[in-house]
Amino acid sequence: AFVLTGCSSERTPTTDESTSGEEMAGFADGSTIGVALPDKTSENWVLAGELFTEKLNDAGYKANVQYAPASNTVAEQQNQIQAMVTGGAKVIIIGAKDGKQLATQVEAAHDAGAYVIAYDRLIENTEAVDYYVAFDNFKVGQLQGQALLDGLAANAGHEAPYNIELFSGSPDDANSRVFFDGAMDVLQPKIDDGTLKVLSGQTEIAQTATEGWKAENAQRRMDSLLTSTYSSAELDGVLSPNDTLARAIITSVEQAGKKVPVVTGQDSEVESVKSIMEGIQYSTINKDTTLLVEQAVKMVGQLGAGETVDVNDTEQYDNGVKVVPAYLLAPVIVTKDNAEEAYANVPSLLEIVQSYK
Ligand code: BGC
Repeated sequence: AFVLTGCSSERTPTTDESTSGEEMAGFADGSTIGVALPDKTSENWVLAGELFTEKLNDAGYKANVQYAPASNTVAEQQNQIQAMVTGGAKVIIIGAKDGKQLATQVEAAHDAGAYVIAYDRLIENTEAVDYYVAFDNFKVGQLQGQALLDGLAANAGHEAPYNIELFSGSPDDANSRVFFDGAMDVLQPKIDDGTLKVLSGQTEIAQTATEGWKAENAQRRMDSLLTSTYSSAELDGVLSPNDTLARAIITSVEQAGKKVPVVTGQDSEVESVKSIMEGIQYSTINKDTTLLVEQAVKMVGQLGAGETVDVNDTEQYDNGVKVVPAYLLAPVIVTKDNAEEAYANVPSLLEIVQSYK
């Protein structure tokens, strides 16, 4: 990774965030670091919480890891972050439930002299986000789009055109649009040239959204698409933005007694890895949570030492009022064919893959 930003002068609490990039100062070992995570709906969030506790403590900090509860989630996450500020956290790492509704809290963090790192999901419409650390979300989408094309060519059982449907994530998550745009970067030309047909006509992100990233919402939409559009036509493929939704889509198709289409995913959830090895779900994405947490903890260490923070992207993540300097990790596409190689460094998943040999 190459280094694009950095500064070393003292940071003092300020309400003028226009100069936030020049006001850095370190903090002591043993400082409290807050971590606010959105929910436990995907395995990656559960694992992230465990890893943050372990790795921040190992690095000599006091980790304060909180999950937003299932009800009143946005307000509760706001409260949790505010409590971290009041409690004197030096850095607050946030996986946002709703990235558009945290401006007040992250501005309070800045006023108190704390740094804010957006973790996995961008925080929007505020200057008070110092860094973003995530897997390259646009690349995730492109890999999903390409996997759908590859899967169709290999498994549809007939030549093009292929009938597909598109799903996207929750509208309150900034990632959802980026995943979708990345996928459409690959799929739109194939829709335009007639290789792919979206028989429902639902190609706008608003029509494809899955509120709250909830499985039941994806399943319900798939049920209704099958009824409205696929009573006689065959469905060849589905773009699913993650594994939780992929399994819900597959369940819907199975319950309707139809052939399972080529379905993409993301996150390498255990049940989806098994499904891929059984030849049901077609693909997922490996975003190794350990690497992402390690990168975030490294940022904390660099901030604590008053050092330059490593970033490798200063263009892509415009949050509406500023381009947030980011460190992006590379996602890896996983199908049955490359699973063993893709999970070479993830022992728990490697074991599952090898059990299918
Ligand atoms: C994450 C995905 C995850 C989704 C639902 C997104 O912001 O990047 O990995 O599947 O949230 O939790």
